[in-house]
Amino acid sequence: MSPELIQIETDVLVIGSGAAGMYAAIEAARRGKRVLLADRSLIGRGGATVMAQMTVAVALGSETPDDPEHHLRDTLNAGRGLCDRELSALLCEEGPECIREMEDWGVGWARKNGRITQAKAPGHDRPRCVYVDFLNTGPAVSKTLRTVVNKTNGVRRAGDLCIIDLLKHDGAVVGAAALHLSTGTPVQIAAKVTIVATGGLTRLYERNSASSNMGGDGYALALRAGASLIDMEFVQFFPIGHLAPRLIGMDPIMWDPFRYKLGGRLLNNRMEDFTDKYGVREDGKYMITRDAGSYAILKEVEAGRGSPHGGVYLSFQHRSELDLRQAFGPVINRLAANGIDLTKMPIEVAPIAHYHMGGIRVDRHMQTDVPGLLAAGEAVGGANGANRLSGNAITEALVFGRQAGRTAAEQVSRGETLDRADNAGTIIDMMRSDGANHGVNTAQLIQRLQATMQRHAGALRDETGLKTALREIDEMESQLGPSPLGSTAAFDMLRLDWFDLRNMLLVARVVAQTALRRTESRGAQRREDFKDTAPEWNVNQLVAMTDGRLAIANAAAAREAAVA
Ligand SMILES: Cc1cc2nc3c(=O)[nH]c(=O)nc-3n(C[C@H](O)[C@H](O)[C@H](O)COP(=O)(O)OP(=O)(O)OC[C@H]3O[C@@H](n4cnc5c(N)ncnc54)[C@H](O)[C@@H]3O)c2cc1C
Repeated sequence: MSPELIQIETDVLVIGSGAAGMYAAIEAARRGKRVLLADRSLIGRGGATVMAQMTVAVALGSETPDDPEHHLRDTLNAGRGLCDRELSALLCEEGPECIREMEDWGVGWARKNGRITQAKAPGHDRPRCVYVDFLNTGPAVSKTLRTVVNKTNGVRRAGDLCIIDLLKHDGAVVGAAALHLSTGTPVQIAAKVTIVATGGLTRLYERNSASSNMGGDGYALALRAGASLIDMEFVQFFPIGHLAPRLIGMDPIMWDPFRYKLGGRLLNNRMEDFTDKYGVREDGKYMITRDAGSYAILKEVEAGRGSPHGGVYLSFQHRSELDLRQAFGPVINRLAANGIDLTKMPIEVAPIAHYHMGGIRVDRHMQTDVPGLLAAGEAVGGANGANRLSGNAITEALVFGRQAGRTAAEQVSRGETLDRADNAGTIIDMMRSDGANHGVNTAQLIQRLQATMQRHAGALRDETGLKTALREIDEMESQLGPSPLGSTAAFDMLRLDWFDLRNMLLVARVVAQTALRRTESRGAQRREDFKDTAPEWNVNQLVAMTDGRLAIANAAAAREAAVA
């Protein structure tokens, strides 16, 4: 028997409860609007925000004089000519206000001599990154926002609610259809304004720093609803993801805070510093940006100068045990429990998919091309261009979340709720259908997609590889089939995997197609067959979908190329 349909009505639907979604919900609710904050996981615990460890970039100038103009200049430089200047400026100008508001809410930014202290990170021209402590900044940000959400009248929270598609009427988004995971019940949500704050896509890659909720749902939802995506080829690989020896119970990107505090040396298998060969002299300091670092490491490995597990070495052996303990105290004991003594051995590191510069195209009010649909946080593309600076992502989530909440509140005051949608019947019927099980192993398909993307659409790319990736995606799509597998039972993983793969395959295709079309290297896009940056590619690529067909256009030249 098909489960009953649950129907909910709200002013603002916020999809995703990371920093962006929670800030958006708080902002819209304190402007008097009714908000439904929905997440496929537990509220405030499902995405990147709660996993982030370290720093938040903001021109506070609390220790060293600074100005949002300086932050903007560094952000635009890092973006290699492709930043949406308005979005970057918003991030830099409103960052300080959000950081102060977070402080008023009790986040507890670290202080020295009474002043909020700021660290210097690669690509920033001065110390600009605030933190709580170097391993717990994300959890503190998340906890602070969760507490404020809980205290804010007007925010209803719904965990375990996976949004499957956006609902539309007369060209506008009027809510969403969702699957309540723990009961298998379909849910129809009518909303005057919907905000997509679903985070990034790094689950598409085999080696990633993400949670399993980061398969790019928001990009697929927005695309199917008629919104454009921008800069989708620019996936950020974090250069020094942990590789070996085996490390249990610690985050793969934990070496970043070590490099912030202690410098560290990147070494090839001849125990030589090598970054200067790629244009960055580190001299034991942390100087190299993420795009340049990933490239340098992969090229050393390709030249046969890699470490045994296929990365390079990161060494802190020149630092004393006292230095290490003063900087990281109990973390040193946790490393010892894993058999790692940093005074005696280097560890092996290699690039790992970490963040997405691309995303949903919005204006400075976070409005997409589709009425009734806003986006915020990592789901948005454009603010960081072809490469993001450390610390800019949490600032982006806070600032864009707040802005989306503001815009939503204004739009709600003008709009009306529609409980009818042109596509609701089709989507709800699809969710209620009893699917076949053709013997397709969806978990294996997810692994195959991740391996394909890692190998052929990862940090180093070329035409042959990208075309292979696209062929594999075609094959996987036909194996998956057009209608959901599994049943409508509670926690049917086959069904959830089917819905996840439907999004992941679409988003992977967009990444591979835009990467193939950009015949140059710039920022995070490194083409082995087009090694130089080409001035004619100083344009963003926009992706839209009509009747299931993708179209890619250059934003500046507006040249359109239809692709299958
Ligand atoms: C390990 C790690 C460390 C990092 N460290 C830093 C750092 O030190 N500094 C920095 O600036 N940045 C850092 N980043 C990046 C930064 O954390 C993120 O870019 C930022 O937190 C994104 O916030 P968000 O609110 O946009 O998305 P997220 O925090 O990722 O939240 C998205 C939410 O959407 C939900 N969701 C997804 N799909 C659906 C759906 N279909 N239906 C319902 N809900 C859905 C997810 O469950 C999740 O809760 C780090 C990232 C990682 C992974």
